[in-house]
Amino acid sequence: KSEKSEASPTSAADIPIQHTDCFIDGQWLPAASGKTFATINPATEQEIAQVAEGDAADIDLAAKAARRAFDSGDWPKMDARDRGRLMYQLADRIEAEIDSLAALETLDNGKPIRESRNVDVPLVIDVLRYYAGYADKIHGSTIPIRGNYFCYTRREPVGVAGQIIPWNFPMLMTAWKWGPALAAGCTIVMKPAEQTPLTCLRMAQLAKEVGFPDGVINVVPGFGPTAGAAVVKHPLIDKVAFTGEHRTAQVITRDSADTLKRLTFELGGKSPNVVYADADLDAAAQGAYMGLYLNQGQCCCAGSRLFVESSVHEEFMEKLTKLTNRRKLGDPFADDTEQGPQVDQNQFDKIMSYIDKGRQEGAECVSGGQRFGDRGYFVEPTIFDSVTDEMAIAQDEIFGPVLSVLKFDGSDEIIERANRTFYGLAAAIWTQDVRKAHEFAARVRAGTVWVNCYDVFDAAAPFGGFKMSGYGRELGEEGLKAYTESKTVTVAL
Ligand code: NAD
Repeated sequence: KSEKSEASPTSAADIPIQHTDCFIDGQWLPAASGKTFATINPATEQEIAQVAEGDAADIDLAAKAARRAFDSGDWPKMDARDRGRLMYQLADRIEAEIDSLAALETLDNGKPIRESRNVDVPLVIDVLRYYAGYADKIHGSTIPIRGNYFCYTRREPVGVAGQIIPWNFPMLMTAWKWGPALAAGCTIVMKPAEQTPLTCLRMAQLAKEVGFPDGVINVVPGFGPTAGAAVVKHPLIDKVAFTGEHRTAQVITRDSADTLKRLTFELGGKSPNVVYADADLDAAAQGAYMGLYLNQGQCCCAGSRLFVESSVHEEFMEKLTKLTNRRKLGDPFADDTEQGPQVDQNQFDKIMSYIDKGRQEGAECVSGGQRFGDRGYFVEPTIFDSVTDEMAIAQDEIFGPVLSVLKFDGSDEIIERANRTFYGLAAAIWTQDVRKAHEFAARVRAGTVWVNCYDVFDAAAPFGGFKMSGYGRELGEEGLKAYTESKTVTVAL
């Protein structure tokens, strides 16, 4: 059974909250409306701080500042090596403050400190450095065309990028958005998630301190239907890069129609994780465990549909439940805590309602299934066995620590069943047979496929979705190109 650690969660008083206003044109400004909203510590349910509640008026100021910084050339025309150098300096500052940033992330989001400290912030640094190196390596090509002409392409920044992110990896999503945009020469209007604005605001201050020109990075905290929608509709913003739910992406698509913004979407998933009988079952159990429970199950690519070949089902479940039942929940600031709270009351309620639904639909709850403790939004790591394809817990993104286990027999059926979802973000297969692995990788409709591993991310490897999991890619060269326009120049000779 999971144990709760005794240490009480670190309180707001232990971590200085330095930035809660809007960061616009290099200045810290309260929201024009004067309104604020509370950001909550999900481990204690207590308020951490009041944060400026930006809306259309603040987004307008931010968009004008970003436009000016773009059009004046302050950023796009800066020597590309200098742009890259500022990005390296930002990464260095983040590295120097890794402990305090990790603590702030854990306070605001609830994720265990060992993950913020050892996974999230190091990946932030890595992504910024990766893209810093790209700043002076963006170029077009020469094209042989018919006739007596010299034809070439230029890769130019798309302009002002509106960026809207969710709460599950607040700093990392900020870096995934800022890295390619800044390297390409774009300026930024970012709206962080209302649940977790604090680390993004801190990163804006660090960017100011290392010398980013005013207006290049603007951060306006606030809510989706007000501040978020204002980003999407603003005529001075050229592109919206959004990470979040597919339903929000549908609203954004409609709201952006009048200004025909370039859109990239990183949306949800219900990723199949397929374990064949010939797999290394210990490694697969570890991969299934980590691939679902990482970050409290709040990962877009969580392997939430686990398909196990019938002949090894019993043996595999024994390994998986053993790992799951040992998982340590509790104070996210305790070094040995593996699972913290869900991000807020809404997510907690949604997850608990899916656990009820799983029971009602006749799936067998073989691990967890309850709230953990009596304070904070903790949910026990939960496994449902005997799940069938059409159950809600096999179709809907739960975005919590709830795993659905399904059985399968042989290759013919599994690819069709793996694809039986409107999502297409990630998929994984565990097998020793390279033929099965490559066939699955080719036929599964997903943007990322892991073979005998899970959740392997790298700044250089593109990530994004098929189907309702989004379009466009982040990370790697493709992520950079998503912040550029191609211009064709033809010169008569
Ligand atoms: P969400 O769509 O509710 O919110 C995401 C962001 O959009 C927030 O900042 C929110 O304020 C804003 N928003 C809400 N309504 C808006 C509107 N009308 N106009 C503009 N902005 C609006 O999603 P969430 O619950 O915060 O995040 C969870 C979702 O994010 C899950 O579906 C998850 O899979 C997805 N996600 C995807 C990836 C990926 O890379 N594919 C990564 C992380 C999370």
